Amino acid sequence: MALTNNYLKGVYETVLKRNPNEPEFQQAVLEVLESFEPVVEQRPELEEKGIIDRIVEPERMVMFRVPWVDDNGKVQVNRGFRVQYNSAIGPYKGGLRFHPSVCASVIKFLGFEQCFKNSLTGLPMGGGKGGSDFDPKGKSDAEIMRFCQSFITELQRHIGQFTDVPAGDIGVGGREIGYMYGQYKRLNNEAVGVLTGKGLSFGGSLARTEATGYGLCYYTKEMLAYKGTSFEGKTVVISGSGNVAIYAAQKATELGAKVVTMSDSAGFIYDPNGINLDVMKDIKEVRRARIKEYADLVPGSTYTAGARPWNTVCDIALPCATQNELDENDAKALIANGCKFVAEGANMPSTPEAVAQFQANGVFFGPAKAANAGGVATSGLEMSQNSLRLSWSFEEVDERLHDIMVNIFKCCVESAEKYGHKDNLVMGANIGGFEKIADAMLAQGIV
Ligand code: NDP
Repeated sequence: MALTNNYLKGVYETVLKRNPNEPEFQQAVLEVLESFEPVVEQRPELEEKGIIDRIVEPERMVMFRVPWVDDNGKVQVNRGFRVQYNSAIGPYKGGLRFHPSVCASVIKFLGFEQCFKNSLTGLPMGGGKGGSDFDPKGKSDAEIMRFCQSFITELQRHIGQFTDVPAGDIGVGGREIGYMYGQYKRLNNEAVGVLTGKGLSFGGSLARTEATGYGLCYYTKEMLAYKGTSFEGKTVVISGSGNVAIYAAQKATELGAKVVTMSDSAGFIYDPNGINLDVMKDIKEVRRARIKEYADLVPGSTYTAGARPWNTVCDIALPCATQNELDENDAKALIANGCKFVAEGANMPSTPEAVAQFQANGVFFGPAKAANAGGVATSGLEMSQNSLRLSWSFEEVDERLHDIMVNIFKCCVESAEKYGHKDNLVMGANIGGFEKIADAMLAQGIV
């Protein structure tokens, strides 16, 4: 689909001009603008008030030096980022990613998508994102701590519980959040919910660790139910073996499906008997080792180096690793192998060509900003608990998460239908997330 509306075309041309050499950001903006066509046709005030011109431009972006000393006493320098994208409906909120691929384009694409995702949760959270090109792989615990302390020493002046509340993402889990929270508290002398994903003993929420993976399965459960079926007896292919992938595999298994693949950046494992999650968690969460070991430990499973799992027979695919990990050929392979449902756990894992393949071939497709919103939704619940100075039980948080995912699915279906694109969850998610932000921006004037 190409842009046909002149206003949107003009906005996109400006985005290309202002953000050259930023392919991920350009890709994310184009995908969202395509969905807005029927909305701007029906709502002329959006053009009159420059809503789309403003929504594609981040409110603020900071880039900073992160110096630290490695275990050999050598000075290392990384680059840190935080984009504060849109605060129309609440304080900026979004994760921090530590990965060598982090650059302005990646952070801006993630921040832009985050705005609509956060809006879809129904909670009052604006959009932001941040991170560093630091590679945590192979670093000692002491090096991770020194890096996190240096990173947050600079970032702390830009964030705050009512301003901007970062969380984890790729390469940033409970350990890293703990180190950053400790240093923030030391510098500011206040114990507030300025970061989410904290440890349970200092303000973290039960079920936050599980939330993105569980939420993905709750959303997928609604997709399946909408088409008159369920997880029961289905074969599921998952990529990744990080936080999202592990808890998606756990919930899908609990709901009666068999998960047969998981992966890391070096290759994937196939287990026809269903992934043994105890073994997987020990490899990935405890020993932080490579997924290859799974095949040595579990009889009947196989490891394929340098490949992704998309050439596997399945009913449901849940990409949970990283952006653009599923391309047109992967989509064709999934379709040929009988896959009927795809829901994105990672952010923008499917290329636009892959999404087009799914939609043209009757695969029901759930986009990331809706399907993986459970993580940030539960971060929002962590913020609420911190403000109340209370902790809710696992069941209470999980139930709220479940309700939020059901509502997000409903919103996607209704928003798509309202603008004449029945069952197009991509349109539904973009429009549903957008309209609430647009209404807030219209009410708040030109700011
Ligand atoms: P983790 O760091 O816990 O895990 C990432 C997984 O993806 C690992 O298995 C990693 O393998 C793999 N991976 C990372 N980069 C690549 C790559 N370039 N090629 C192939 N595989 C890769 O991250 P999360 O599970 O937290 O995040 C996964 C995705 O989900 C990301 O897109 C993130 O933005 C998104 N997400 C996460 C949320 C959360 O709450 N954690 C919330 C919403 C979205 P390896 O170990 O070899 O690098």
